[in-house]
Amino acid sequence: MAVFTEARHARYIIGKCRKGADLLEEITSLCAAEGVKLGRVEALGAVQKARLAFYDQAARQYRSLELDEPLEITSLVGNVSLKDGHPIVHAHVTLADAEGRAHGGHLVPGTIVFACEFCIQAMEGAELTRGLDEQSHLPLWKMD
Ligand code: ZN
Repeated sequence: MAVFTEARHARYIIGKCRKGADLLEEITSLCAAEGVKLGRVEALGAVQKARLAFYDQAARQYRSLELDEPLEITSLVGNVSLKDGHPIVHAHVTLADAEGRAHGGHLVPGTIVFACEFCIQAMEGAELTRGLDEQSHLPLWKMD
């Protein structure tokens, strides 16, 4: 059975990122400034270029994907939890190019905002901390 905890909705933080900002760092620093330790994130908009990662399950390491072109953020979904005592945003994005082709993956620093509207749902009542998972070698939630 899945391992889980419960949390309560605390508040919504709705806003837009600055043009030229790093998308992941912008959202992460906002969570830190607003004291969001647990939550979910969604966003849409456009980026000037993107840096994504794909986790190679056999090699147990991320491979980077660089997209040096304007792209639409058709979907960004993510969560907020703690790692080493600080909020960390884990987000995946789907981006569309000028022909409508989709690219997607794990969002990493280096994705530069053209325009982006976001909604962060802050939660309380549970604290989730990330630590190294031995099986996957990923920094997953410690819930055991
Ligand atoms: Zn990921």
